[in-house]
Amino acid sequence: MEQGTIKNVSVNDDLGPLLDLAGRVGHNPLLTQASTGNISLKLDGVLWIKASGKWLADATGGKILTPLDLAAVRASIRQNLDPAELYPNASIETAMHVTLPHAVVLHVHSVNTIAWAVREDAANQLATRLDGLRWQWIPYVASGIPLAREIERVLTARPETDVLVLGNHGLVLGGKDCQATETLLAEIERRLAIPPRQAHPADYALLSELALDSLWDLPDDDAIHALATDPVSRKILEGGFLYPCQAMFSDARTPELFHAATDTVPDSAAYAGRPFVIVKGLGVVLSRTMTPAEIAMLSGLAQVVQRIDPSTPLRYLTEGELAESASIAAYRYRELANASHA
Ligand SMILES: [Zn+2]
Repeated sequence: MEQGTIKNVSVNDDLGPLLDLAGRVGHNPLLTQASTGNISLKLDGVLWIKASGKWLADATGGKILTPLDLAAVRASIRQNLDPAELYPNASIETAMHVTLPHAVVLHVHSVNTIAWAVREDAANQLATRLDGLRWQWIPYVASGIPLAREIERVLTARPETDVLVLGNHGLVLGGKDCQATETLLAEIERRLAIPPRQAHPADYALLSELALDSLWDLPDDDAIHALATDPVSRKILEGGFLYPCQAMFSDARTPELFHAATDTVPDSAAYAGRPFVIVKGLGVVLSRTMTPAEIAMLSGLAQVVQRIDPSTPLRYLTEGELAESASIAAYRYRELANASHA
């Protein structure tokens, strides 16, 4: 959409509260990691939505938003065309944002929500905790047109819905303005909060020795080590992929990537080319080629699994769902996520 066709929109007055909210959400690693999470505002026939691959944390200055013609985006969905394919600059979740009727729509990969949304019994667990809110559960479905159709279906059943928990994915909520949306988000987060399990500390001395003169580095975020030092987390990771972002790591989509290595020498040939190695009981070392986006994803994953009990019945992604998530859209998303953080 040409900027010139948008009348009288002031970044300060009209988009300011949206960008402020985007920034606050983007700086909370328990809500968004890297370019995950997105926000939109419907205003005078225009959908202002986070551009593909931008980080919510970079919201200051308004450069993260792109304007789309709301009627055109709605028409594309009616014709089964994913607006993210039609408008390559738009968020891959544009279809989700436009299908919800609210003026402000916020989508987050909240680690607390995901810890519930990967359970087999998520719908029942959430029913108790979100009681009284106008919410609905949507079992895992791919982003784009398939998710938009599911949202249409649940909204037809209960049009007043303003919270959706997306199975193996995250949370989306809408409000009449930014303040209402942020207040609702805080309430959901309060209800779904899970204290993380305490993990055994990493063996920093040995890890530093391994990283010396090697391809490996220690993560800045100490919490990542829980993937290696907490046996419950290791067992969960060995079960498969819990959500599509977990499969974003370049040329390493196999679940084995998340299995702990018992070999304490990660610079052996077996691990060359890996983005990271989980060294059983010791901690995690990262490849020096790992991008900030990939590291943020790994931090988020550690936070999610630290909030899942060992007895939890988990619903992992199927092979088919994983193949789908490795599609062109996911590839584009990963490329941009890696490239565009300010
Ligand atoms: Zn998402």
